[in-house]
Amino acid sequence: MMMPNMNYADLKDSYLFFNISKKVNTYLEKNPDKHIYRLGIGDVSLPLCDTVIEALHGAVDDQSDKSRFHGYMPEIGADFIKERIVDYYAGRGVKLSADEAFVSSGASDELSDILDLFDRSNTALIMEPAYPAYVDANIMAGRKIIHLASGVHNGFLPMPDPSIEADLIYLCSPNNPTGAVYTKEGLKKWVDYANKRGAVILFDAAYEAFIEDETLPHSIFEIEGARTCAIEICSLSKTAGFTGTRLGYTVIPNTLERNGMNLNSMWVRNRTTKTNGVSYILQRGGAAVFTPEGREQIMENINVYKNNARVLMKPLDEKNVWYCGGHNAPYIWLKCPGNMGSWEFFDMLLNEVQIVGTPGEGFGACGEGFFRFSTFGDPADTAEAARRLLTVL
Ligand code: PLP
Repeated sequence: MMMPNMNYADLKDSYLFFNISKKVNTYLEKNPDKHIYRLGIGDVSLPLCDTVIEALHGAVDDQSDKSRFHGYMPEIGADFIKERIVDYYAGRGVKLSADEAFVSSGASDELSDILDLFDRSNTALIMEPAYPAYVDANIMAGRKIIHLASGVHNGFLPMPDPSIEADLIYLCSPNNPTGAVYTKEGLKKWVDYANKRGAVILFDAAYEAFIEDETLPHSIFEIEGARTCAIEICSLSKTAGFTGTRLGYTVIPNTLERNGMNLNSMWVRNRTTKTNGVSYILQRGGAAVFTPEGREQIMENINVYKNNARVLMKPLDEKNVWYCGGHNAPYIWLKCPGNMGSWEFFDMLLNEVQIVGTPGEGFGACGEGFFRFSTFGDPADTAEAARRLLTVL
């Protein structure tokens, strides 16, 4: 008999978004005339910017013309986008070579595919609260997981503990769901810990474009020593509205080696075996994000979300509610007032002011008692939600 991967039996069902939509639907059945203010979504609401759309259209036309048509693309990405990625990093003082940047179909794909590089016997350390895919991808692979809890005491930015024996370390900064961002000093401690242990950091930088405090690092490669211990996984999903279009990139330094194996070369081998690359059309669209016009236009969209964040932080400030995020991230993570539980606060917001957010408990046990607001929603709805919030805090 074929044996399935029995690690799947260890996955816990995620009831988070299922329960949210069930509660909202039940509420709407009883109150069909009510409008719901959705601050729960982690998806963007603004369309792709004009420069990207023009590039996508141009690339579709290329595919209709024999002299400009593209068949298979290089598995690890076309030079025309990899060079732009290298320039983007150079603008921040990070020197990469084009063969260190890999074009991907998005961060989710990479975060799980990259696990092919690591032995099953490795232990994964996951900072929590966390994006749920880190835990599930390692359960599927049968890897031991250490959950590194964080809280108000450390601003939801846990630091390495030398007594923890981890081989793979998941860091996400700016973080989903907490919006907390590591300083350069904080990241340096992780880099030193990883280099000392021979561990590898998987650094999820999906939200780097939201950082406005320029003293904070956008990339782990701004930290000395990271080139020998880190892989950075990036996405155009939230940066440029590519959630439904799909494009990302991953940086693996060619100086990253373990046990005589070069991880950059291993990833080239992996990609050339397991993919035939990302579509030419999408890579043209992605390359447009890195042009001066593209940067300007995506920042206009990001500023709409940032304004939503300012609008939502105002009632929290006025009512002295503890929160982090919001300034350098598209998420606000707050402590539920009156020591309410995450779901208790969810029910109260839904029933009293028709606001839907995300209970923190869904991102790891230490998220209980906390709540996430997303700032990706409609500005008019967000403004009304902020006004309503003030009446119940
Ligand atoms: N990493 C984090 C922290 C995320 O929040 C998300 C999406 O919400 C992703 C990765 C996935 O990004 P992508 O759309 O590129 O797969």
